[in-house]
Amino acid sequence: MNLMSINAFFVVFGVIMGIAVIAIFAFSFMLMFGTKTKAKLLSRQFKTLNDATGMSQNDMESMLTNLQNMSIRSRKKVLDENEETLKDMADANARINKDAVKTTAGAIKEGFVGNKVYCKHCGSSIDADSKFCKSCGKEQ
Ligand SMILES: [Zn+2]
Repeated sequence: MNLMSINAFFVVFGVIMGIAVIAIFAFSFMLMFGTKTKAKLLSRQFKTLNDATGMSQNDMESMLTNLQNMSIRSRKKVLDENEETLKDMADANARINKDAVKTTAGAIKEGFVGNKVYCKHCGSSIDADSKFCKSCGKEQ
């Protein structure tokens, strides 16, 4: 086998592997989102449940509805009972975010203005490399 045929082998192998990967992906996609496939799987699950429990489809539907209502009611109850705490948490989050935004905005502003430091004596903003404060005149 010379170099050309080894290369050709790898090209063919790569194409076949690519097609296989795409086919597997397409198949799982169909399985996940295909309406017909979904309906078929659902009816199979229903049949299994029906065999196991003897419940009719109506019974199951009302049971599922009740379960959903229960879950919604309990979520609403949790929200109602903890309204104050949730509000406090939201406020705290807003405060934290506000401070973070302030800090970030300040950093960006400083970045635009250039390398600034503050005078050791009077605290005014001066250039980092200046030897004397231009506000109070003292040496840095
Ligand atoms: Zn100064």
